[in-house]
Amino acid sequence: MNNKYAMDVKLLRVTKEGIDLVAEGARVSGVHLAQSARKIVELITDNDYSSVLEHIYFTMDISGISVALSRELLEHRIASHTGKSTRYKEEKGFEYYVPKELERKGREEGARIYMEAMKNANDAYTKLRELGVAREQARYVLPLALHTHYVLTINTRSLINFFMLRLCVRASPEIRELAMRMYKICLEEYPDIFSRIWCRGFTLGVCPENEARPDRCPFKKFLPKKREVKGKFERDARMIIEKELKGLVFTG
Ligand SMILES: Cc1cc2nc3c(=O)[nH]c(=O)nc-3n(C[C@H](O)[C@H](O)[C@H](O)COP(=O)(O)OP(=O)(O)OC[C@H]3O[C@@H](n4cnc5c(N)ncnc54)[C@H](O)[C@@H]3O)c2cc1C
Repeated sequence: MNNKYAMDVKLLRVTKEGIDLVAEGARVSGVHLAQSARKIVELITDNDYSSVLEHIYFTMDISGISVALSRELLEHRIASHTGKSTRYKEEKGFEYYVPKELERKGREEGARIYMEAMKNANDAYTKLRELGVAREQARYVLPLALHTHYVLTINTRSLINFFMLRLCVRASPEIRELAMRMYKICLEEYPDIFSRIWCRGFTLGVCPENEARPDRCPFKKFLPKKREVKGKFERDARMIIEKELKGLVFTG
């Protein structure tokens, strides 16, 4: 058994010349022909005309992550997911995730209980397999900490949504670390797009987490809450909306 920290992300494929591709798509839809491809992509990213960004795909090989994290990843439905099978792959002596919290001073007892639980799960799995129980049944004793291996294909629009949600300090530590590793790869490939993206607060200029934003948020001091900004104009804006609705004429 091995609890060595092992998260790793490798880029398997990425759409090449994606800036030109996105700009071509945008020009078909009506964006001014004279603008450079980079300028068009900046406009699209900033103004959230993001459907053309769907033409750029990334495929990443993600290893050394827990099954718990893989479940969170699977919540991102606008992507293609392939995960290691516990039906077809043997898990005797499995590797597993250890939360960083348990490596801190003062958490020795917690760490001991955690490691013991992993050992017990491995012993149970190994015994079941030795008794001839099939992998697809023995696997139910495996923990959420079990390391898994993943291949993810995701387009840039969906990736932006992923980063906005998972780079937030409120995301769980393991998926936030994965998001950071993926972000570094994306930033290197397409800086014109990804330098404009981080958590929702940075990307939108207001934080939709409102009061849920914890003190550890590095932007808390200067990024306004969505409620603060909206609160300033909401009543007046609502009146305008009601007026518009009153004047609405249905045809057909
Ligand atoms: C801090 C944090 C806490 C969370 N806590 C919980 C929790 O307690 N419980 C929990 O279950 N999940 C939780 N989640 C997961 C979250 O609810 C989403 O399931 C996850 O982040 C995937 O986001 P998404 O739906 O935007 O992504 P995707 O599934 O990739 O969807 C992308 C976008 O497509 C659109 N879309 C996709 N499917 C539909 C649909 N069926 N109908 C309409 N529009 C659709 C939406 O605009 C969506 O934003 C949490 C996430 C975060 C970041």
